[in-house]
Amino acid sequence: MLNFDNRFIRELPGDSISTNETRQVTRACWSSVTPTRVAAPNMLAYSREMAATLGLDDAAMQSNEMVNALSGNELLSGMQPYATCYGGHQFGHWAGQLGDGRAIYLGEVVNAAGERWEMQLKGAGPTPYSRRADGRAVLRSSIREFLCSEAMHHLGIPTTRALSLVATGEKVVRDMFYNGNPMPEQGAIVCRVAPSFTRFGHVEILAARGESDLLLKFIDFTIDRDFPHLKSNPQKYSVWFAEICERTAHMIVGWMQVGYVHGVMNTDNMSILGLTIDYGPYGWVDNFDPGWTPNTTDANGKRYAFGRQPEIARWNLERLADALAELGSVFADDAALRAGLERYDEIYNNEFNRVFAQKFGFRKLKRELQNDDGELINGIFALMQNAEVDMTDFFRQLSEIQISNPSPDVLRSAFYVEEKWRQYRPEFAAWLTRYAARVSADAQPDAIRVEAMRQVNPRYVLRNYLAQQAIDLAGQGDMSMIHELLDVMRNPYSTQTGRDAFAAKRPDWARHKAGCSMLSCSS
Ligand code: AMP
Ligand code: MG
Repeated sequence: MLNFDNRFIRELPGDSISTNETRQVTRACWSSVTPTRVAAPNMLAYSREMAATLGLDDAAMQSNEMVNALSGNELLSGMQPYATCYGGHQFGHWAGQLGDGRAIYLGEVVNAAGERWEMQLKGAGPTPYSRRADGRAVLRSSIREFLCSEAMHHLGIPTTRALSLVATGEKVVRDMFYNGNPMPEQGAIVCRVAPSFTRFGHVEILAARGESDLLLKFIDFTIDRDFPHLKSNPQKYSVWFAEICERTAHMIVGWMQVGYVHGVMNTDNMSILGLTIDYGPYGWVDNFDPGWTPNTTDANGKRYAFGRQPEIARWNLERLADALAELGSVFADDAALRAGLERYDEIYNNEFNRVFAQKFGFRKLKRELQNDDGELINGIFALMQNAEVDMTDFFRQLSEIQISNPSPDVLRSAFYVEEKWRQYRPEFAAWLTRYAARVSADAQPDAIRVEAMRQVNPRYVLRNYLAQQAIDLAGQGDMSMIHELLDVMRNPYSTQTGRDAFAAKRPDWARHKAGCSMLSCSS
């Protein structure tokens, strides 16, 4: 059914110990490990797009054989399960070995188009990297990862994918608020899929341990398998690092474009391919606020707040550069690494300007004495923040503004607080006058401008409260909202008839509700 070619474990050295106890794994990149069986696997949902990419139709996805494989109860022919070793900087500090503590790779599928896709079960039981935890995942977090992976994909933002969501029929105990109240919750397993799950932390751990030979081998392997177009480039190492920087910049611009906050941008959660990875306490900005983070664990430091993501991504790339600098033979001086980091700045700025020009409906951003778009944009960002305006709804409504006669009334729906609407209406009116003049200066037909704006301003995002409603229903055995959200998020940039409710901004009840505005890492 699936064609496996498991290069990672074939070409990189594995752990010499084959038992499954928690340990430090040195001089190796992976350990063999078998998923732990579950009591009663039940396929709750799957992504038909991802299944089709792997060559699996509905019948294949619903077969007993597949449900057993995607719950870790059975291996399909060609699957060779393993967990990999990585480290990482967490909240700004080196944390040593982390590794796949609750993710187990099943192998690498090569599909009919010749594409390579790694498959992983998240929540399939302990591995040598599980430390003191159980290797399991709860249903609520698994629903969030499943839905958001596919939503991000359809929004056009680089991401790992989700193939399936399977309930295990077993309970998992979690202290959801870290307040000393552990509770049994339903367990689940997501099968996630990506061309590569390699993280910055895979490189960092080898550098930190001074395992230079293995570090070079790992990088050669990564370039060969994941960046094949660089294989025969004489400058391949520096071009490779620059490409990681570029890809990361594109991903972060995507996050800023749609108001996505990752929540835990530790270097072990940064993908070498610039894919959004590890959906934990992530969230979507409702009222525009660069200081907002959904992660209660980060509530004081706000290190991973919305507006800091570009800066943190660069910090993470610097840590990757530090690790690469350990390879004196390859990166003899740090000029190449510095050039890569500068590439991040350049691509981030260019892409941010391009995407935000489109969000505002400008042909491109201008910097002129009479017409400084930076000032215009920062002006509205400040207003949106002070007036508590919904980011998604604001940008969608902005394309409805009548340029010949701009009225802020079109933006009314984006306000959360009636009082703020009354207070700030005149300032929005004044801003819109300048905005309309700026748009007119582009002399672009309205229809073309509006269409361009709609292509980057989603009508639907996976708002925190929507995901939470799907989770609450699933807890009662009703999976319908998971399916409906999966379907709504297939076309996030189109207005879908009968689905206005999914575009509604956060209701009042969700403002301070757990899961809707506050999430912990407990999952
Ligand atoms: P995260 O915060 O999800 O990126 O995880 C950080 C580290 O903790 C990684 O090494 C994970 O594999 C590990 N981890 C997180 N949750 C669990 C769990 N329930 N069981 C075992 N390891 C876990
Ligand atoms: Mg992680």
